[in-house]
Amino acid sequence: MLAMNYRGPRRVRADQKPMPEILHPNDAIIRVTRSCICGSDLHLYHGLVPDTRVGMTFGHEFIGVVEEIGPSVEKLKVGDSVIVPFNIACGTCAFCKQELYGNCHESNPQATAVGGIFGYSHTAGGYDGGQAEFVRVPYADVGPTVIPPGMDHDNAVLLTDVVPTGYQAAEMGGIKAGDTVVVFGAGPVGIMAAKCAWLFGAARVIVFDHVEYRLEFVKNYANCEAYNFRSIEDPVLFVKKTTDWLGADVCIDAVGADASGDAMQTITGKKLLLQAGSATALHWAINSVKKGGIVSIVGVYGPTDNLVPIGNVVNKGITIRANQASVKRLLPRLIEHIEAGRLDPKAMITHRVPLEEVADAYHIFSSKLDNCIKTVLIPPS
Ligand code: NAD
Ligand code: ZN
Ligand code: ZN
Repeated sequence: MLAMNYRGPRRVRADQKPMPEILHPNDAIIRVTRSCICGSDLHLYHGLVPDTRVGMTFGHEFIGVVEEIGPSVEKLKVGDSVIVPFNIACGTCAFCKQELYGNCHESNPQATAVGGIFGYSHTAGGYDGGQAEFVRVPYADVGPTVIPPGMDHDNAVLLTDVVPTGYQAAEMGGIKAGDTVVVFGAGPVGIMAAKCAWLFGAARVIVFDHVEYRLEFVKNYANCEAYNFRSIEDPVLFVKKTTDWLGADVCIDAVGADASGDAMQTITGKKLLLQAGSATALHWAINSVKKGGIVSIVGVYGPTDNLVPIGNVVNKGITIRANQASVKRLLPRLIEHIEAGRLDPKAMITHRVPLEEVADAYHIFSSKLDNCIKTVLIPPS
């Protein structure tokens, strides 16, 4: 089968690989119909995630058709079209029982932090991902959810990660009616977080990025304020000035470790001078939230990054909430929001690329070329 093949930092290509097989009675094999490239894949692509092995197939955002099931699988049948959450969750461990599906212990027992994730290095269990024609899906009775009849499959594929992640970012922020919410990052996750902030009752939503076309998109799509942090003096000062020097009620970090480094280079002088792979957005979030406010982090950092301005967290009495999104927990209510027309995530899809051209697709998404917001990879039919 054709699959994405990681060759080393910034080097990926499409290659023929062996078909995946049922390895456990609870497995299913899914024939992928669409997969996406995510900002999280960029951390792998940029070489920021430890133990990312050459030869791996990335891809944790995919939908497809059930091709084969193991003997213990009861809830799926061959031919079902399914949404597959990016978290690999056993459904029965202590964490899954609390609906912390992103923290499942069984799917990644060697790690004490993250659970198993498709196509996300051996730190997340070493599972191959769905940027391929076929993929093995463990615990097939737990994660995969049949796509509701009538749902656009472009919306369905975005329910595997970015919609729940943006929604959970807003939810973890504890947004209340009347709140001012600041979102750092206007990638797909930040765009969804800004959109979802209104569902929780925000009165004002402000987004910062430095990529103009993304700012333009989020301003219209999420009906919010959007500013280029390169064009203003300092985002922290900007937030303070515009909130009577109180700060925002909730700040969301939808950036994480930024390997591109270009976001950082203009931040000189008395502002933060941080290197690629650092935590500028998180600094800004902590420094611009009000005293007693909440900083919600969905941006992904390396397991050993230790870049938090902890003094200000203590002095301001800030609550920090963070996690991988718990996709399975959120799917029912997000399907409702889409069916009711309150969310239309497919509007973020700007690129639809044959899997064969995966190398170009990564380059374009990583370099923010060609007005790219979200890329869907289409396997050969
Ligand atoms: P993306 O790369 O498309 O978007 C990130 C955006 O942040 C870019 O537009 C970039 O220009 C902007 N940016 C860079 N530095 C900035 C700064 N200092 N301030 C404001 N904006 C800045 O990625 P994405 O797909 O939107 O994902 C965003 C983050 O969320 C990534 O770290 C990704 O790994 C993470 N993520 C987390 C989860 C989860 O479950 N927690 C799930 C999906 C993605
Ligand atoms: Zn993702
Ligand atoms: Zn579990």
